[in-house]
Amino acid sequence: MRVDHAVSPWPLREPFCVSSSRGNRPKQFNANLNRRWWGRLLFDRRGQFLKPKELVRIEESKLRKIVRYAYSKVPLYRRRFDEAHVKPESIRSLDDLAKVPFTVKTDLRDNYPLGLLAVPANRLYSLHASSGTTGKPIVVAYTRGDLLRWATLVGRALDTTGVRKGDIIQNMYGYGLFTGGLGIHYGARAIGATIVPASSGNTKKQLMLMKDLRTTVVTCTPSYMVYLIEASKAEGYDAKTDFALRIGIFGAEPWSEEVRKRIQDAFGLRAHDIFGMSELYGPGVGIECEQQNGLHIWQDEFITETINPNTGEVVEPGKEGELVFTMLSREAMPLLRYRSRDLSTIYEEECACGRYHNRIKRIKGRSDDMLIIGGVNVFPSQVEHVLMNIRDVGDQYQIIVSHKELDRLAVKVEVPTNRLNDTTFAKKIRDDLFAVLSIHAEVELVELGTLPRSEVGKALRVVDLRPK
Ligand SMILES: [Zn+2]
Repeated sequence: MRVDHAVSPWPLREPFCVSSSRGNRPKQFNANLNRRWWGRLLFDRRGQFLKPKELVRIEESKLRKIVRYAYSKVPLYRRRFDEAHVKPESIRSLDDLAKVPFTVKTDLRDNYPLGLLAVPANRLYSLHASSGTTGKPIVVAYTRGDLLRWATLVGRALDTTGVRKGDIIQNMYGYGLFTGGLGIHYGARAIGATIVPASSGNTKKQLMLMKDLRTTVVTCTPSYMVYLIEASKAEGYDAKTDFALRIGIFGAEPWSEEVRKRIQDAFGLRAHDIFGMSELYGPGVGIECEQQNGLHIWQDEFITETINPNTGEVVEPGKEGELVFTMLSREAMPLLRYRSRDLSTIYEEECACGRYHNRIKRIKGRSDDMLIIGGVNVFPSQVEHVLMNIRDVGDQYQIIVSHKELDRLAVKVEVPTNRLNDTTFAKKIRDDLFAVLSIHAEVELVELGTLPRSEVGKALRVVDLRPK
């Protein structure tokens, strides 16, 4: 394609357009900035297909560097290493990683807002903050290099799901301090897809845009997408024929295979799980490929371990444990062995998609989310798994835990009107729950549309009424 620069108000160099007219080139500085920000440098398919040996070599060389960097720049790491009598030079290979002290969420909270910075504050390009439900949030900082790396990783994640230039991405993650919205946005820039920064909420408008703009890719929380199933029906849309969706990327809360099935069946798209957390840049740390069998974690940027949450000992791959991440190139705020509180399992086997980056099983839940009911561990995701497998159970449910002499678990489930007084149906739900949870739950059937919906992000599905 030839573009006449003389008539273009914004002349650009490659890769945006091709021209041989030297005289109309913009100044070198602008051209480089454009290229480096949004140009093809960010698009990184080669990185997705690194071979195992190459991955380990990159991990180890980056590990040596980041450990020395964190030790010399961040007082907290210097103190931790000194207290543990670990010399940064002694961390040479992946086998030495276990010597590195853990970083935990309270370290980030205690150093609010920017006590863990490794660079002068005037080098920061961006700040985000986690949604602190109690007290101060966690502030995360990015240099220009950090933002570029993050964009590249999210771009890789989108590319892995099959999103391409030409796709129209309706990004329904919240824009703002939350990393979800802008993270996906940067990733879309990296691969050159069209982004619609719809942000969260305003369901009627979302559906209208989805239809009118012929959106092909949606990104939001899985619970919001489930909500859109019934919202689209209520607005008179046919979810399969009125929309042109082909890929959905859902994350920021745990979800189950059964919910995936419901979303895929309703909209006729392929649903992918995406993993990330604001402490680790944001979304795009891990992604499901087309195999939909575990999430690849970008191993050249994150070392992933699983540990026993009670003892801190490393658990071998294939066994469940708490995920621990070491960021290998974070400049503004290096994080070594960060305890995520998320429980999962690491797989090292090769994936059929040809990518060797380690996979993790879909997150079962944060260890913080785990409910202990009468001494039994219960994850809300287990309840969801059971419910969504039962025909005629609606997409919405609520878990209520209370205490009256003993801990009690009640589950409210939306069902069609003809099932409302069906005691055998309620008993079946109770039995299925018992088979998985090993505790008896009271099941209450309620009418469709009566339980609270999540319109702006994460669902509030658990109500714990027990005195703290
Ligand atoms: Zn794969």
